[in-house]
Amino acid sequence: MPRPDFPLTILEFQQRFGTEDACRAYVFASRWPEGFVCPGCGARHAGNETRRHLWICTGCGLQTSVTAGTVMHGTRLPLRTWFWAAYLVSTFHPGISAKQLQRQLGIGCHETAWAMLHKLRGAMVAPERELLKGEVEIDEFFLGGYEEGLKGGRQRGKKALCGAVIEVRGRGSGRLRLQVLANSRATTLEAFTKATSAPGAIVHTDGLFSYGALTKLGYDHRPRKVASVPDDEQLLPRVHRAISNLKAWMHGTHRGVSPEHLPVYLDEFVFRHNRRGTPMAGFQTLLGLGLAHDPITYRDIIDRAA
Ligand SMILES: [Zn+2]
Repeated sequence: MPRPDFPLTILEFQQRFGTEDACRAYVFASRWPEGFVCPGCGARHAGNETRRHLWICTGCGLQTSVTAGTVMHGTRLPLRTWFWAAYLVSTFHPGISAKQLQRQLGIGCHETAWAMLHKLRGAMVAPERELLKGEVEIDEFFLGGYEEGLKGGRQRGKKALCGAVIEVRGRGSGRLRLQVLANSRATTLEAFTKATSAPGAIVHTDGLFSYGALTKLGYDHRPRKVASVPDDEQLLPRVHRAISNLKAWMHGTHRGVSPEHLPVYLDEFVFRHNRRGTPMAGFQTLLGLGLAHDPITYRDIIDRAA
């Protein structure tokens, strides 16, 4: 049996996760899709201690809480509150603040809401390491320098060089990867390409000298200079669209991010981008119920519904 699916609409969400028992059953099914397995000895039989919701292994006597290994482990808050928080954090497009979370879920104290948000966002920074396949566009760009209070010529602040790579899916885009780069030298850009894109992929670049050896590394490199692109056509349109969305998001929601925190925000943007068709898919990951692989695609859902 595969791990359970996730609701596709807010109504479905509300109906499915209306009680503590329903939430607990969902956590159980996500964690043990084939039925209970003792984390201590691997036995498949356990008694249920219903008051504290513990499973007690009949083989070795180990007590396991169903939430162990998830972000909800040891929590005093209702699981329903966690489920709703994960829903809000994963579906609220620009990102949600601790204050909004506190207000929307009626959480008594700000520190609790803040800690909760912090834990949920922790799952977004788990790097998605599956290599992009098929056909990709790669580019590098500067990000940051939004610090306020700098005047005149110093208005740029500190900028960081970043790399972006995105899958080509017909006229649209597939999965995205972002990374802060040390420089734009060949070794750096080659390492970025290897860390993000599967060998054999068709790689479109702007023909920067540093990409010169990609063919030797086993990629089908298709460099194109800006000057050779007709006026009605855009060079690397998908990766440029992602970069400009990222810049708008950073500028609107996360002004004044210092360079050392930048990777966290890049990961969050990638998390949201890669789930933009199915934001609900993110809630499993945020609760620690999902596996660390890439999200279910819109296509998967269409196939599932069929
Ligand atoms: Zn056991």
